[in-house]
Amino acid sequence: MPVLRKDPFGPAWVLMLPERGLERSDFGSVPPAEGVSPYAPGNEAALPPEVVALRPSTSPANGPGWRARVLPAPAGPFAEREFDERSDGLFRWGHASGRQELVIEHPDSAMRLDDMPQAHLTDVLRLYRDRLAQLASDPAVRHVQMTRTTGRAAGAVVDHPHGQLLAVPVPNRWVEEEAAAAEAHHAVTGRCLFCDVLEEELRRRERVVSANAAFVAVAPYAAHTPFETWIVPRKHQSAFASVTANSLPLLAELLQTLVRGINSALEEPPTNIILHTRPRPGDTTYHWHLEVLPRLTRQAGLDWASGSYVNPTPPEDAARFLREAMALFQVTG
Ligand SMILES: [Zn+2]
Ligand SMILES: [Zn+2]
Repeated sequence: MPVLRKDPFGPAWVLMLPERGLERSDFGSVPPAEGVSPYAPGNEAALPPEVVALRPSTSPANGPGWRARVLPAPAGPFAEREFDERSDGLFRWGHASGRQELVIEHPDSAMRLDDMPQAHLTDVLRLYRDRLAQLASDPAVRHVQMTRTTGRAAGAVVDHPHGQLLAVPVPNRWVEEEAAAAEAHHAVTGRCLFCDVLEEELRRRERVVSANAAFVAVAPYAAHTPFETWIVPRKHQSAFASVTANSLPLLAELLQTLVRGINSALEEPPTNIILHTRPRPGDTTYHWHLEVLPRLTRQAGLDWASGSYVNPTPPEDAARFLREAMALFQVTG
């Protein structure tokens, strides 16, 4: 049975999954049949029954006719059970517990995020928000995440537009590292680090890629990877669950603008989109954001050995390049 082990030297919990072997895989994805998307309409019976779907009231559950569907992830490593965290001398571990869901964003396997009608993407983002809020309603949940992967090199196994949701009873190391920095800043200033950095970025402008009334796309000052771009809400919000119905179309718009810019500037690179959020609202120090990460370089051995990132593209250059690609895109349509 898969187990979670706490790293005694840092904030990470590691999922030990020996049966996964060394193969790369989407969490819980069904391997694709030759040339056919397993998520396409008509294949519903081969997948777990849907949790919720966007479909006309006349169309029965678990059949075709849907616009988007949410399912329990088929064959995921996390079991729906109470987390039995235990100590073993200096070590802590427990059987992997949590919930994973698969969000099939569109019936058309070839539909791309940047081509999706904006109203459809808005509905999909609302689905993500509502499912994540529902998953976080279990008080044992310490971390929720949404990940969206395009391209084999980024880890995608199925090309069909989809995202993965995960709710687990252990914190996430990357969110915890950001939260520790934010808490230290808050302890000294009484302010949110993310809000302060965003204000500074908007004043300097050089790393801002695009912005609208509710969100800003910005290349972070110390971007870990080339063209790493964050989408940050202008208003302080610790949890994605708090994003309002009015601002979802603006999030859809900015996300599409950014992905179009990345695809046109970088020729459709494999990309990971990762949501960093608190599971529930109310944290005055943490501030949710989407991290959009084109996969352009392989991490070299030296990077691993030295423990720091090597980024050959300064974020100021990346932001300028993306702004130019977007301007071109807007002119040529
Ligand atoms: Zn904030
Ligand atoms: Zn983050």
